[in-house]
Amino acid sequence: MLNLILFGPPGAGKGTQSEQLIDAYNLKHISTGDLLRAERKAGTELGIKANEYIAKGELVPDEVVVGMVRNFMKEHSSSKGFIFDGFPRTTPQAEALDNLLSEFGAKIDIVLGLEVIVDELVKRLLLRGETSGRADDQSEETIRNRFKEYQTKTLPLMDYYTKKNSYVGVNGMGEIDHIQSSLREEINKVL
Ligand code: ADP
Repeated sequence: MLNLILFGPPGAGKGTQSEQLIDAYNLKHISTGDLLRAERKAGTELGIKANEYIAKGELVPDEVVVGMVRNFMKEHSSSKGFIFDGFPRTTPQAEALDNLLSEFGAKIDIVLGLEVIVDELVKRLLLRGETSGRADDQSEETIRNRFKEYQTKTLPLMDYYTKKNSYVGVNGMGEIDHIQSSLREEINKVL
């Protein structure tokens, strides 16, 4: 199995880069943001509850997202591996992921951190908000709150994975294709 995490702040390009990587390496894409939005669209209790957090730019409780990821992995247990996008976002989520993967006899092989400056991130998110219809991309206040959550709860994971020797930072500014090549270069080193 090949299991990788695309790490980085909101708007860093994790979703865009994941799309190309899943085809290239034949992996399953797990985006907790996408899974949560699908739940909301289906009108499930989980989706409605989660949307209260999403609308404020706050993180959804750990047990909710971990449960979703566990279900997804079980449903796709014959997969060659997973790309985790927007998950884990907290230390308890990272620990839960380690435990889940160990049930598969697997581990995180590499954490690719997309590095982008904040001004560029805000610009990208507001632009995405114009076309995606995502309410959380249309309010600068919600965007700022998501960055705050990222700084306090998610950024410590950089240290968590650096200690495990799995974190690699990649420049997330510039051409999409160029960033994709940089990511593949790093992945190919651990294959
Ligand atoms: P972005 O990376 O642009 O913030 P996502 O689609 O990954 O977009 O996430 C949208 C929102 O969904 C987050 O602001 C948060 O409220 C919620 N969310 C997504 N993934 C997680 C997670 N792993 N833990 C907690 N909340 C999450």
